[in-house]
Amino acid sequence: MSKSLQAIRGMNDILPEQTPVWRYFEGTVSRLLDNYGYKQIRMPIVEFTELFKRSIGEVTDIVEKEMYTFDDRNGDSLTLRPEGTAACVRAVLEHGITGGGQVQKLWYIGPMFRHERPQKGRYRQFHQIGLEVFNLDGPDIDAELIIMTWRLWGELGIRDAVKLELNSLGTSESRGRYREALVEYLSAHHDKLDEDSQRRLKTNPLRVLDTKNADTQAVLVDAPKMADYLDDESRAHFEGLKSRLDAVGIPYVLNPKLVRGLDYYSKTVFEWVTDKLGAQGTVCAGGRYDGLVEQMGGKPTPGVGFAMGIERLVLLLETLEQIPEEISRQVDVYLCAFGEEAELAGLALAERVRDQLPNLRLQVNAGAGSFKSQFKKADKSGALYALILGDDEMAQQVVGFKPLRGQGEQQSIAWDALAAHLATCVVQG
Ligand code: ATP
Ligand code: MG
Repeated sequence: MSKSLQAIRGMNDILPEQTPVWRYFEGTVSRLLDNYGYKQIRMPIVEFTELFKRSIGEVTDIVEKEMYTFDDRNGDSLTLRPEGTAACVRAVLEHGITGGGQVQKLWYIGPMFRHERPQKGRYRQFHQIGLEVFNLDGPDIDAELIIMTWRLWGELGIRDAVKLELNSLGTSESRGRYREALVEYLSAHHDKLDEDSQRRLKTNPLRVLDTKNADTQAVLVDAPKMADYLDDESRAHFEGLKSRLDAVGIPYVLNPKLVRGLDYYSKTVFEWVTDKLGAQGTVCAGGRYDGLVEQMGGKPTPGVGFAMGIERLVLLLETLEQIPEEISRQVDVYLCAFGEEAELAGLALAERVRDQLPNLRLQVNAGAGSFKSQFKKADKSGALYALILGDDEMAQQVVGFKPLRGQGEQQSIAWDALAAHLATCVVQG
């Protein structure tokens, strides 16, 4: 027998019973972003491999071991995007929409691909909502990004479960001076470092700060501190951000070891973390990348952004049972018709009601069936009301209107009055 067909490990179907939560989450975020004046951009899922090497950095986990890279039929090396910032920068440069200092406040949503070890909260195809702002260099916009996510957590009812961690990486000059001091210190303790950190010491020393190895962590206790190397400009920027968060009342913890996985960050970096999801606790992460656009061939253009992981946030909503009950009900009204004549009348009636109530979620029974079987389907659909068309109703040109969730008796409503009646009893989204 042939092997049964399966999806690729770490790449998941999102089944109909799960999509209401996804749509609730995505709808809440996109409404919020609209309200703050952000505009959506959509980029391709596949890009030239070179784009990611140049932007993310050759010696990062993503580029070294996580990318899905292949040659296409022309022999070009292409990669399934592992994140959105690189393609977004490529797009704004290609279309010249950040030229002359034009401010762009952009967001995107979609799948990202990384060949990681699949586990709870970590997949090979996962989904992000990301956001990038170009040509604003002050801490006010960094603050806005954080304030906006804070509001989002509030709307979703998960504010108490997430914590904001903050750090400043300084400008590339101050980061360079710090890197030198760190390398000097770590080189003096080379033998006590784990193997991975010894390697990173040569390739990407700041990433050593991010280590999970206890021995290396012990060495880091007395290592030089990034905060002591910040130049005045970065220090003032960071203070500006903190004072704005204080003004709005957003709590944060300073985490001097927060360096982020990608090479391109400068000044502000932040993560929203939760302890409710086990090891995969970062639900949203981002920071400032003032040097990236220039590094990718554009004019110097400040940038700042973040990305949130939809799977992890959906998991968090489920774990905290913060899913509004009404989102899983997808039918308001279910129409049952008995006999051929009633079925035809029912179809026409349904269309007239839909003309008048375009947001009504009205499902018409398909596949005929007995009174009992249609009624069972109406109930199972989750509808609040059943509409009934049988011989008696046909004769009187009325429809039976029956509450399915225990609110009152069945009544007869004239066809002409049906839409008006439904408008009074169904709250339409
Ligand atoms: P992590 O430290 O968990 O590997 P990261 O620093 O690699 O995360 P980013 O590149 O900053 O992650 O991506 C932003 C967000 O996207 C993360 O905070 C997380 O919520 C989500 N994310 C990243 N990788 C995955 C993955 N493999 N599966 C599910 N979500 C992910
Ligand atoms: Mg990662």
